[in-house]
Amino acid sequence: MTSFSIKTFGCRVNQAEAFSWANEFQKHGLEYKKDFSQSDLVLINTCTLTSRADSDVRGFIKKVGRLNPKARLIITGCYAEREPEELINNSQVYRVFSNTEKGNLAAEVLSVAEDNKETSILPFRSRALVKIQDGCNFRCNFCIIPSVRGRSVSVEKEEILNQVKEFINQGFKEIVLAGIHLCSYGLDLEPRSSFMDLLQEVENLDGFGRMRLSSLDPRFLTPPLLKHVTSSEKICPHFHLSLQNGSDEIIHRMGRKIDVGNYRRILAYLHQKSPLASLGADIIVGFPGESEADFGKTYSFLRQSPLTYFHVFSYSARPGTTASKWIQIDNKKKKERASFLRSLSQEKNVNFRRRFKDKECEAIIIKKGKKGAQVLTANYIKVLIPYCPEEEKREIRVKITRITHNETIGQIV
Ligand code: SF4
Repeated sequence: MTSFSIKTFGCRVNQAEAFSWANEFQKHGLEYKKDFSQSDLVLINTCTLTSRADSDVRGFIKKVGRLNPKARLIITGCYAEREPEELINNSQVYRVFSNTEKGNLAAEVLSVAEDNKETSILPFRSRALVKIQDGCNFRCNFCIIPSVRGRSVSVEKEEILNQVKEFINQGFKEIVLAGIHLCSYGLDLEPRSSFMDLLQEVENLDGFGRMRLSSLDPRFLTPPLLKHVTSSEKICPHFHLSLQNGSDEIIHRMGRKIDVGNYRRILAYLHQKSPLASLGADIIVGFPGESEADFGKTYSFLRQSPLTYFHVFSYSARPGTTASKWIQIDNKKKKERASFLRSLSQEKNVNFRRRFKDKECEAIIIKKGKKGAQVLTANYIKVLIPYCPEEEKREIRVKITRITHNETIGQIV
Protein backbone atom coordinates (compact mmCIF):
# COMPACT_ATOMS: atom_id res chain seq x y z
CA MET A 1 0.00 0.00 0.00
CA THR A 2 1.38 3.42 -0.90
CA SER A 3 1.83 5.73 2.05
CA PHE A 4 1.88 9.51 1.97
CA SER A 5 2.66 12.49 4.16
CA ILE A 6 1.84 16.14 3.55
CA LYS A 7 3.82 19.22 4.48
CA THR A 8 1.97 22.51 4.16
CA PHE A 9 3.49 25.98 4.09
CA GLY A 10 1.69 29.30 4.20
CA CYS A 11 -1.96 30.18 4.30
CA ARG A 12 -5.19 28.52 5.36
CA VAL A 13 -6.03 27.83 1.71
CA ASN A 14 -2.97 25.60 1.42
CA GLN A 15 -3.99 23.89 4.65
CA ALA A 16 -7.52 23.38 3.34
CA GLU A 17 -6.19 21.84 0.12
CA ALA A 18 -3.93 19.52 2.10
CA PHE A 19 -6.88 18.54 4.28
CA SER A 20 -8.96 17.68 1.23
CA TRP A 21 -6.15 15.63 -0.42
CA ALA A 22 -5.52 13.71 2.82
CA ASN A 23 -9.22 12.87 2.98
CA GLU A 24 -9.36 11.84 -0.69
CA PHE A 25 -6.19 9.72 -0.59
CA GLN A 26 -7.30 7.86 2.53
CA LYS A 27 -10.76 7.20 1.10
CA HIS A 28 -8.97 5.46 -1.79
CA GLY A 29 -6.77 3.27 0.36
CA LEU A 30 -3.52 5.22 0.70
CA GLU A 31 -1.97 5.16 4.13
CA TYR A 32 -1.40 8.46 5.94
CA LYS A 33 1.89 8.85 7.85
CA LYS A 34 2.42 11.83 10.10
CA ASP A 35 6.17 11.40 9.85
CA PHE A 36 7.47 12.33 6.38
CA SER A 37 10.60 10.21 6.88
CA GLN A 38 8.36 7.09 6.81
CA SER A 39 6.20 7.74 3.75
CA ASP A 40 6.54 6.69 0.09
CA LEU A 41 5.16 9.99 -1.18
CA VAL A 42 5.82 13.39 0.34
CA LEU A 43 3.38 15.99 -0.90
CA ILE A 44 4.55 19.58 -0.35
CA ASN A 45 2.14 22.49 -0.70
CA THR A 46 4.41 25.53 -0.93
CA CYS A 47 4.20 29.26 -0.25
CA THR A 48 6.11 32.21 -1.71
CA LEU A 49 4.60 35.11 0.22
CA THR A 50 7.97 36.16 1.65
CA SER A 51 11.61 35.33 0.93
CA ARG A 52 11.57 33.47 4.25
CA ALA A 53 8.74 31.26 2.94
CA ASP A 54 10.86 30.44 -0.14
CA SER A 55 13.86 29.43 1.94
CA ASP A 56 11.69 27.35 4.31
CA VAL A 57 10.43 25.36 1.31
CA ARG A 58 13.95 24.81 -0.05
CA GLY A 59 15.14 23.81 3.44
CA PHE A 60 12.36 21.26 3.83
CA ILE A 61 13.08 19.67 0.44
CA LYS A 62 16.73 19.24 1.48
CA LYS A 63 15.63 17.74 4.78
CA VAL A 64 13.45 15.14 3.02
CA GLY A 65 16.47 14.35 0.81
CA ARG A 66 18.52 13.62 3.93
CA LEU A 67 15.94 11.79 6.03
CA ASN A 68 13.92 9.98 3.38
CA PRO A 69 15.97 9.75 0.17
CA LYS A 70 13.71 7.06 -1.31
CA ALA A 71 10.52 9.12 -1.09
CA ARG A 72 9.01 10.59 -4.23
CA LEU A 73 8.20 14.28 -3.89
CA ILE A 74 5.07 15.86 -5.31
CA ILE A 75 5.29 19.63 -5.11
CA THR A 76 2.64 22.24 -5.71
CA GLY A 77 1.60 25.68 -4.43
CA CYS A 78 2.80 29.22 -4.98
CA TYR A 79 6.56 28.60 -4.85
CA ALA A 80 6.14 25.71 -7.30
CA GLU A 81 4.15 28.04 -9.54
CA ARG A 82 6.97 30.59 -9.53
CA GLU A 83 10.04 28.32 -9.68
CA PRO A 84 8.98 25.05 -11.36
CA GLU A 85 12.30 24.48 -13.21
CA GLU A 86 14.33 24.69 -10.03
CA LEU A 87 12.14 22.00 -8.46
CA ILE A 88 11.89 19.63 -11.39
CA ASN A 89 15.70 19.50 -11.63
CA ASN A 90 15.77 17.76 -8.26
CA SER A 91 15.92 14.01 -9.04
CA GLN A 92 13.70 13.18 -6.05
CA VAL A 93 10.86 15.26 -7.42
CA TYR A 94 8.30 13.06 -9.14
CA ARG A 95 5.91 15.77 -10.31
CA VAL A 96 5.40 19.53 -9.95
CA PHE A 97 1.80 20.78 -10.15
CA SER A 98 1.21 24.44 -10.92
CA ASN A 99 -1.61 26.16 -9.03
CA THR A 100 -3.90 25.75 -12.04
CA GLU A 101 -3.15 22.00 -12.15
CA LYS A 102 -3.96 21.49 -8.46
CA GLY A 103 -7.47 20.34 -9.34
CA ASN A 104 -5.99 17.22 -11.02
CA LEU A 105 -3.52 16.45 -8.27
CA ALA A 106 -5.59 13.94 -6.30
CA ALA A 107 -6.66 11.96 -9.40
CA GLU A 108 -3.10 11.81 -10.80
CA VAL A 109 -1.58 10.72 -7.50
CA LEU A 110 -4.25 8.04 -7.07
CA SER A 111 -3.61 6.74 -10.59
CA VAL A 112 0.02 5.89 -9.73
CA ALA A 113 -0.53 4.74 -6.13
CA GLU A 114 -0.81 1.06 -5.22
CA ASP A 115 -3.79 -0.65 -3.59
CA ASN A 116 -6.97 1.30 -3.88
CA LYS A 117 -9.09 -0.58 -1.33
CA GLU A 118 -11.40 1.33 1.01
CA THR A 119 -9.78 2.00 4.36
CA SER A 120 -10.42 3.87 7.60
CA ILE A 121 -9.54 7.56 7.74
CA LEU A 122 -7.00 8.73 10.29
CA PRO A 123 -7.53 12.30 11.44
CA PHE A 124 -5.24 14.55 9.40
CA ARG A 125 -6.36 17.48 11.52
CA SER A 126 -8.83 17.89 14.34
CA ARG A 127 -10.81 20.61 12.57
CA ALA A 128 -12.03 20.33 8.99
CA LEU A 129 -10.82 22.95 6.54
CA VAL A 130 -12.88 23.76 3.48
CA LYS A 131 -11.55 25.88 0.64
CA ILE A 132 -14.36 28.03 -0.73
CA GLN A 133 -12.44 30.36 -3.04
CA ASP A 134 -9.01 30.94 -4.56
CA GLY A 135 -7.19 33.92 -6.11
CA CYS A 136 -7.68 37.66 -5.76
CA ASN A 137 -8.86 40.48 -8.03
CA PHE A 138 -6.85 43.16 -6.22
CA ARG A 139 -3.28 44.23 -6.85
CA CYS A 140 -1.94 45.47 -3.53
CA ASN A 141 1.53 46.83 -4.26
CA PHE A 142 3.33 44.41 -1.96
CA CYS A 143 1.49 41.22 -2.80
CA ILE A 144 2.67 38.42 -5.08
CA ILE A 145 -0.47 36.32 -4.58
CA PRO A 146 -2.51 37.50 -7.60
CA SER A 147 0.40 36.70 -9.94
CA VAL A 148 0.74 33.13 -8.65
CA ARG A 149 -2.92 32.33 -7.95
CA GLY A 150 -4.75 34.41 -10.54
CA ARG A 151 -8.12 36.10 -10.25
CA SER A 152 -10.79 35.15 -7.75
CA VAL A 153 -12.51 31.84 -8.50
CA SER A 154 -15.24 30.53 -6.19
CA VAL A 155 -15.98 26.88 -5.54
CA GLU A 156 -19.57 25.95 -6.51
CA LYS A 157 -21.88 26.21 -3.51
CA GLU A 158 -23.19 22.65 -3.92
CA GLU A 159 -19.65 21.29 -3.77
CA ILE A 160 -18.91 23.22 -0.58
CA LEU A 161 -22.14 22.10 1.07
CA ASN A 162 -21.43 18.46 0.15
CA GLN A 163 -17.96 18.68 1.64
CA VAL A 164 -19.26 20.22 4.84
CA LYS A 165 -21.92 17.47 5.11
CA GLU A 166 -19.21 14.83 4.67
CA PHE A 167 -17.12 16.40 7.44
CA ILE A 168 -20.15 16.64 9.75
CA ASN A 169 -20.67 12.89 9.17
CA GLN A 170 -16.99 12.26 9.95
CA GLY A 171 -17.61 13.85 13.36
CA PHE A 172 -15.96 17.24 12.91
CA LYS A 173 -17.32 19.82 15.33
CA GLU A 174 -15.62 22.79 13.71
CA ILE A 175 -15.27 23.72 10.06
CA VAL A 176 -12.80 26.41 9.02
CA LEU A 177 -13.76 28.25 5.83
CA ALA A 178 -10.65 29.22 3.89
CA GLY A 179 -10.07 31.47 0.90
CA ILE A 180 -7.43 33.86 -0.39
CA HIS A 181 -10.07 36.58 -0.44
CA LEU A 182 -13.06 35.09 1.38
CA CYS A 183 -15.30 38.10 0.96
CA SER A 184 -15.11 37.81 -2.86
CA TYR A 185 -16.94 34.51 -2.60
CA GLY A 186 -19.70 34.06 -5.15
CA LEU A 187 -19.17 37.28 -7.10
CA ASP A 188 -17.86 35.28 -10.10
CA LEU A 189 -20.51 32.55 -9.94
CA GLU A 190 -23.43 32.22 -12.31
CA PRO A 191 -25.97 32.94 -10.85
CA ARG A 192 -24.07 35.40 -8.71
CA SER A 193 -23.91 34.62 -5.02
CA SER A 194 -22.22 36.13 -1.98
CA PHE A 195 -20.18 35.20 1.06
CA MET A 196 -23.16 35.93 3.30
CA ASP A 197 -25.47 33.62 1.27
CA LEU A 198 -22.92 30.86 1.66
CA LEU A 199 -22.59 31.41 5.41
CA GLN A 200 -26.35 31.17 5.86
CA GLU A 201 -26.59 27.94 3.86
CA VAL A 202 -23.73 26.29 5.73
CA GLU A 203 -25.21 27.30 9.10
CA ASN A 204 -28.53 25.70 8.18
CA LEU A 205 -27.09 22.23 7.47
CA ASP A 206 -28.38 19.49 9.79
CA GLY A 207 -25.96 18.64 12.58
CA PHE A 208 -23.69 21.58 11.82
CA GLY A 209 -21.54 22.62 14.82
CA ARG A 210 -19.56 25.79 14.41
CA MET A 211 -17.47 27.49 11.75
CA ARG A 212 -14.46 29.72 11.93
CA LEU A 213 -13.74 32.28 9.27
CA SER A 214 -10.20 32.86 8.08
CA SER A 215 -8.92 36.33 7.19
CA LEU A 216 -11.52 38.97 6.22
CA ASP A 217 -10.84 42.06 4.10
CA PRO A 218 -12.14 45.13 5.98
CA ARG A 219 -13.05 46.78 2.64
CA PHE A 220 -15.78 44.15 2.24
CA LEU A 221 -17.19 44.21 5.76
CA THR A 222 -20.53 45.80 4.96
CA PRO A 223 -22.97 46.58 7.79
CA PRO A 224 -25.20 43.54 6.96
CA LEU A 225 -22.19 41.18 6.90
CA LEU A 226 -20.85 42.59 10.17
CA LYS A 227 -24.28 42.22 11.73
CA HIS A 228 -24.55 38.64 10.54
CA VAL A 229 -21.13 37.44 11.68
CA THR A 230 -21.55 38.96 15.12
CA SER A 231 -25.09 37.66 15.68
CA SER A 232 -24.83 34.11 14.30
CA GLU A 233 -24.44 31.45 16.97
CA LYS A 234 -22.74 29.16 14.47
CA ILE A 235 -19.87 31.52 13.64
CA CYS A 236 -16.99 31.52 16.10
CA PRO A 237 -16.45 34.87 17.84
CA HIS A 238 -13.03 35.17 16.26
CA PHE A 239 -12.47 37.70 13.51
CA HIS A 240 -9.15 38.13 11.77
CA LEU A 241 -8.81 41.18 9.54
CA SER A 242 -6.21 41.98 6.88
CA LEU A 243 -5.47 45.54 8.07
CA GLN A 244 -1.77 45.59 7.05
CA ASN A 245 -0.85 48.95 8.61
CA GLY A 246 -2.09 51.74 10.87
CA SER A 247 -0.91 54.76 8.88
CA ASP A 248 -3.20 56.12 6.16
CA GLU A 249 -0.22 57.17 4.03
CA ILE A 250 1.20 53.65 4.04
CA ILE A 251 -2.17 51.98 3.50
CA HIS A 252 -2.62 54.15 0.42
CA ARG A 253 0.93 53.49 -0.81
CA MET A 254 0.07 49.81 -0.50
CA GLY A 255 -2.76 50.45 -2.97
CA ARG A 256 -5.57 49.74 -0.53
CA LYS A 257 -8.57 52.04 -0.67
CA ILE A 258 -9.51 52.24 2.98
CA ASP A 259 -8.32 54.23 5.97
CA VAL A 260 -7.68 53.86 9.66
CA GLY A 261 -10.94 55.64 10.52
CA ASN A 262 -12.78 52.73 8.87
CA TYR A 263 -10.67 50.21 10.76
CA ARG A 264 -11.57 51.92 14.04
CA ARG A 265 -15.30 51.86 13.23
CA ILE A 266 -15.25 48.19 12.20
CA LEU A 267 -13.27 47.10 15.24
CA ALA A 268 -15.46 49.14 17.59
CA TYR A 269 -18.55 47.47 16.11
CA LEU A 270 -17.10 43.96 16.40
CA HIS A 271 -16.01 44.61 19.97
CA GLN A 272 -19.34 46.10 20.98
CA LYS A 273 -21.51 43.39 19.41
CA SER A 274 -19.24 40.49 20.26
CA PRO A 275 -17.39 41.57 23.42
CA LEU A 276 -15.87 38.15 24.10
CA ALA A 277 -14.51 37.80 20.57
CA SER A 278 -10.89 37.42 19.72
CA LEU A 279 -9.97 40.14 17.23
CA GLY A 280 -6.86 39.64 15.14
CA ALA A 281 -5.06 41.40 12.32
CA ASP A 282 -2.21 41.01 9.86
CA ILE A 283 0.24 43.91 10.04
CA ILE A 284 3.18 44.61 7.73
CA VAL A 285 6.05 46.76 9.00
CA GLY A 286 8.93 48.23 7.02
CA PHE A 287 6.93 48.83 3.85
CA PRO A 288 8.90 51.17 1.51
CA GLY A 289 8.44 54.77 2.66
CA GLU A 290 7.34 53.88 6.21
CA SER A 291 8.78 56.72 8.33
CA GLU A 292 9.16 56.79 12.11
CA ALA A 293 6.01 58.92 12.19
CA ASP A 294 4.09 56.32 10.13
CA PHE A 295 5.29 53.55 12.39
CA GLY A 296 4.26 55.62 15.43
CA LYS A 297 0.74 55.90 13.98
CA THR A 298 0.55 52.13 13.52
CA TYR A 299 1.78 51.59 17.05
CA SER A 300 -0.71 53.93 18.68
CA PHE A 301 -3.58 52.67 16.53
CA LEU A 302 -2.82 49.10 17.59
CA ARG A 303 -2.34 50.02 21.24
CA GLN A 304 -5.70 51.81 21.43
CA SER A 305 -7.59 49.22 19.38
CA PRO A 306 -9.63 46.35 20.83
CA LEU A 307 -7.46 43.90 18.85
CA THR A 308 -6.46 40.92 20.96
CA TYR A 309 -3.48 39.80 18.85
CA PHE A 310 -1.78 40.61 15.57
CA HIS A 311 0.44 38.71 13.19
CA VAL A 312 3.36 40.94 12.35
CA PHE A 313 5.28 40.53 9.10
CA SER A 314 8.44 42.36 8.11
CA TYR A 315 7.87 43.60 4.58
CA SER A 316 9.57 41.33 2.06
CA ALA A 317 10.11 42.59 -1.52
CA ARG A 318 8.60 40.04 -3.89
CA PRO A 319 9.68 39.73 -7.51
CA GLY A 320 7.47 41.53 -9.99
CA THR A 321 5.48 43.53 -7.42
CA THR A 322 5.31 47.33 -7.65
CA ALA A 323 6.70 47.98 -4.17
CA SER A 324 9.76 45.79 -4.81
CA LYS A 325 11.04 48.52 -7.17
CA TRP A 326 10.83 51.26 -4.53
CA ILE A 327 13.58 52.32 -2.12
CA GLN A 328 13.68 49.73 0.63
CA ILE A 329 13.92 50.17 4.39
CA ASP A 330 16.93 48.49 5.94
CA ASN A 331 16.41 45.08 7.50
CA LYS A 332 17.60 46.07 10.96
CA LYS A 333 14.93 48.77 11.16
CA LYS A 334 12.26 46.33 9.95
CA LYS A 335 13.26 43.77 12.56
CA GLU A 336 13.18 46.38 15.35
CA ARG A 337 9.72 47.53 14.36
CA ALA A 338 8.43 43.98 14.02
CA SER A 339 9.73 43.00 17.42
CA PHE A 340 8.23 46.13 19.00
CA LEU A 341 4.80 45.23 17.64
CA ARG A 342 5.11 41.56 18.53
CA SER A 343 5.71 42.57 22.17
CA LEU A 344 2.62 44.78 22.04
CA SER A 345 0.59 41.93 20.57
CA GLN A 346 1.78 39.61 23.34
CA GLU A 347 0.84 42.16 26.01
CA LYS A 348 -2.64 42.68 24.56
CA ASN A 349 -3.17 38.96 24.21
CA VAL A 350 -2.27 38.24 27.84
CA ASN A 351 -4.71 40.96 28.93
CA PHE A 352 -7.40 39.42 26.74
CA ARG A 353 -6.84 35.91 28.08
CA ARG A 354 -6.85 37.14 31.71
CA ARG A 355 -10.48 38.15 31.26
CA PHE A 356 -11.37 34.44 31.06
CA LYS A 357 -9.70 33.23 34.24
CA ASP A 358 -12.06 30.93 36.19
CA LYS A 359 -14.52 30.96 33.29
CA GLU A 360 -15.92 27.80 31.68
CA CYS A 361 -16.41 27.23 27.96
CA GLU A 362 -16.64 24.59 25.22
CA ALA A 363 -13.44 23.73 23.38
CA ILE A 364 -12.24 21.32 20.71
CA ILE A 365 -9.26 19.07 21.34
CA ILE A 366 -6.83 19.96 18.59
CA LYS A 367 -3.67 18.14 19.63
CA LYS A 368 -2.49 15.70 22.26
CA GLY A 369 1.11 15.55 23.39
CA LYS A 370 3.43 14.87 26.31
CA LYS A 371 2.27 17.92 28.27
CA GLY A 372 -1.42 17.11 27.81
CA ALA A 373 -4.09 18.16 25.35
CA GLN A 374 -4.27 21.46 23.56
CA VAL A 375 -7.84 22.61 23.12
CA LEU A 376 -9.23 25.57 21.21
CA THR A 377 -12.11 27.70 22.42
CA ALA A 378 -14.55 29.29 20.00
CA ASN A 379 -12.93 32.66 20.70
CA TYR A 380 -9.50 31.38 19.77
CA ILE A 381 -7.85 30.75 23.11
CA LYS A 382 -5.55 27.74 23.08
CA VAL A 383 -5.80 26.06 26.46
CA LEU A 384 -3.47 23.37 27.76
CA ILE A 385 -5.31 20.63 29.65
CA PRO A 386 -2.65 18.59 31.47
CA TYR A 387 -4.97 15.61 32.05
CA CYS A 388 -7.35 14.79 29.22
CA PRO A 389 -8.53 11.23 28.50
CA GLU A 390 -10.65 12.30 25.50
CA GLU A 391 -9.55 11.93 21.86
CA GLU A 392 -8.56 14.66 19.40
CA LYS A 393 -11.46 16.29 17.54
CA ARG A 394 -13.88 15.85 20.48
CA GLU A 395 -15.60 18.84 22.04
CA ILE A 396 -15.23 19.16 25.81
CA ARG A 397 -16.13 21.67 28.50
CA VAL A 398 -13.15 23.27 30.20
CA LYS A 399 -12.45 25.73 32.97
CA ILE A 400 -9.55 28.16 32.56
CA THR A 401 -7.51 28.07 35.76
CA ARG A 402 -4.22 29.85 35.08
CA ILE A 403 -2.88 32.39 32.61
CA THR A 404 0.83 32.86 32.05
CA HIS A 405 2.64 35.04 29.54
CA ASN A 406 2.77 32.24 26.98
CA GLU A 407 0.17 29.74 28.07
CA THR A 408 -3.41 29.34 29.18
CA ILE A 409 -3.98 26.34 31.42
CA GLY A 410 -7.24 24.69 32.33
CA GLN A 411 -9.05 21.54 33.31
CA ILE A 412 -11.99 19.49 32.13
CA VAL A 413 -15.22 20.19 34.00
S1 SF4 B 1 -2.99 41.50 0.00
FE1 SF4 B 1 -4.88 40.36 -0.17
S2 SF4 B 1 -6.29 41.78 -1.24
FE2 SF4 B 1 -4.22 42.52 -1.62
S3 SF4 B 1 -3.58 41.54 -3.56
FE3 SF4 B 1 -2.82 40.24 -1.87
S4 SF4 B 1 -4.39 38.67 -1.60
FE4 SF4 B 1 -5.33 40.38 -2.76
